[in-house]
Amino acid sequence: MLIKADDLQALVRDVFRAEGCSDAESGRIALYLVRANLAGHDSHGVIRVPRYVAWERSGEFVKNQTAEIVTENDSLAVVDGRFGFGQSVGPEAVQIGMKKAAKSGACVVALRSAGHLGRIGEWAEMAAEAGLVSVHFVNVAGSQLVAPFGGVDRRLSTAPFSIGFPMRGSDPAILDFATSAVAEGKVLVAARGGKKLPEGALIEPDGRLTADPHTLYGDYDDDRAPDARNGKGAIRAFGEHKGSGLAFMCELLGGALTGSGCAGPGQPRFANGMLSFYMVPSFFGPEEAYAAEARRYIEFFKSSRAAEPGGEVLIPGEPERRTKAERLKNGVPLPDDAWRSICATAREVGVDPERYPVLQG
Ligand code: NAD
Repeated sequence: MLIKADDLQALVRDVFRAEGCSDAESGRIALYLVRANLAGHDSHGVIRVPRYVAWERSGEFVKNQTAEIVTENDSLAVVDGRFGFGQSVGPEAVQIGMKKAAKSGACVVALRSAGHLGRIGEWAEMAAEAGLVSVHFVNVAGSQLVAPFGGVDRRLSTAPFSIGFPMRGSDPAILDFATSAVAEGKVLVAARGGKKLPEGALIEPDGRLTADPHTLYGDYDDDRAPDARNGKGAIRAFGEHKGSGLAFMCELLGGALTGSGCAGPGQPRFANGMLSFYMVPSFFGPEEAYAAEARRYIEFFKSSRAAEPGGEVLIPGEPERRTKAERLKNGVPLPDDAWRSICATAREVGVDPERYPVLQG
């Protein structure tokens, strides 16, 4: 099915409003989930609505929560998200980091115990829009989904990593990915009838590589939602030993150093931990010079001959911008299965999904 971004956003906002989230929080959840769909990361978009509602009801996420500063000085803040929605406590932490960096040129923010922070590139984009370079190491306490290089057992979360690099007068470069071969949400999208996984994204307990979502979720159907606790296999870390090593460091930085907790059986509750660095380019030298050098380099980078006929070299963030422009124009596509489960959740909280026009059923 296909729906206009604005109508989808209104539906999601109304679902969370009906669930008791404040107008501001409902608006933020809807905005950031739909923006993930616009960026082409459907795994971190509105497909999460049923799970967010379930987690809010079970007490995993706390609605209308605000972040609390645990420790701070001029260049550092430890921020406790107190299990609030990531769409609320995430931007709060980014604002704290940007404010401190504006004074001293750079700052580190350790955010612990945040609800799901969604697409991490969103936070790099927020800093980039304000002209700041940022680096984010993230992990998920309470999650074990990924096998380390050389192993078959789940020992890591999908631990995402993101860097934002703004250049005055041009679009920023935004690198943003899970350190697993695919984000868990992409396995969910595949299980829900969406885009198939690349071959070898998952690993069976006996070491066989596969792309079958049942490896992660075990049995599921229309009545039984895919649940990673039911599967016996794991997602693989990306990039062999290098990706596995980066994931390991995301666990240590995002989980141990922030105080949020690393992946593992001792962490029963979902929490994103995020260690973020914020830098103000003008403290490093003349802003025009750095932006000009970055632009010169990007031109050189992109000037490589394509590996395949008709191909092209893109910089990080470019695919998302293109998808956004296309989806804002033509609408956001959703697998029927995902749409049905969003509508079911809407009805459950007393919102009639029929009130929101769709472009194509
Ligand atoms: P992905 O594999 O699609 O990689 C995306 C990155 O690669 C982007 O920076 C993009 O610009 C770049 N890219 C893609 N195609 C490119 C090309 N052809 N040329 C150059 N660059 C290209 O992303 P993913 O690993 O599936 O992650 C999806 C999302 O999931 C991310 O937004 C991530 O933050 C999010 N995530 C969140 C959590 C969480 O706990 N909150 C956990 C895991 C992942």
